[in-house]
Amino acid sequence: MSCSSNKNQYYTEEEAVEALIRSHISFTRPAVSYYRCDECVQYHLTSRGEEHSLLSKPEIVKRIKSEQQAQDWSGRFKRK
Ligand SMILES: [Zn+2]
Repeated sequence: MSCSSNKNQYYTEEEAVEALIRSHISFTRPAVSYYRCDECVQYHLTSRGEEHSLLSKPEIVKRIKSEQQAQDWSGRFKRK
């Protein structure tokens, strides 16, 4: 089903959660949460509003940090 928001659509909450976490791994200004769209009845990420409580869970924070480090080591972001 198409949606006028033109955002990526996620069929399940699990997919939306995964995309939200990936956004934090990959982007400097990541999405903060996800929501169920009234128009397409699927999930979208959003960069507005309050940060989802999921993102302060220790295991999620840990995962984001370790995956970011993995990206650094691959040489994609050269620092120093
Ligand atoms: Zn939508």
